Amino acid sequence: MVIIPGTDLCLGLSGIDGKPDVIPEKAIFLNQVHGNRIVIDPAGGESADGMIMSRGYGIPALRVADCLPVFALWDDCIGAAHAGWRGLAGGIVENLIAAVDQPLRWLIIGPCICGECYTVGEKVREAVFRGDPAGGEEHPDCRLDLRGSALRRARRASGEQFQLINIDECTLESTSLYSVRGNETAKRNFLWLAEIERGEHIPQLNSEIECNSPERRKN
Ligand SMILES: [Zn+2]
Repeated sequence: MVIIPGTDLCLGLSGIDGKPDVIPEKAIFLNQVHGNRIVIDPAGGESADGMIMSRGYGIPALRVADCLPVFALWDDCIGAAHAGWRGLAGGIVENLIAAVDQPLRWLIIGPCICGECYTVGEKVREAVFRGDPAGGEEHPDCRLDLRGSALRRARRASGEQFQLINIDECTLESTSLYSVRGNETAKRNFLWLAEIERGEHIPQLNSEIECNSPERRKN
């Protein structure tokens, strides 16, 4: 788990052995469809790829294997988005940030397939770079950097005021995360943003997780 500094929230992650955080019973999952729709205060199961809720409403959670999980935190709200190439091309990150009329405080981007490993066709690159021209310059060959594109889009949409936690881990290269391309699996990694319960034991962080933001929970 990763504590969001200065808050009572932490990011949970459950993958293969070694990422054993327990998924909260009340985690709210959407029926992810690779779209760009954001649901406010979801009940769970809506066909959409992003959600926003008031603080205390619930626990936003995502299923991902190589797609990018994005979480966002404002003063009064939290949100989450599932961002694969289709979602990015459709503006899911921009839609998530625009859905709350407050300054974005934290952006948390989780493990996904990295820009070195993710080879795609030219049509996919074109679709994503239409809204993010800088992406084509950074990876001029047949690859796509979901993480970099999401970050550039978030910065543009929010005015760059937020703090960032970037769990810069590649699902394909990791042995402790599910990867559609790597494991050819139907299984998914689960991530969620939850309030830390009083007295809750936060297990030791897996050393593979690297955060750009300085503070991480230590036992
Ligand atoms: Zn990689």
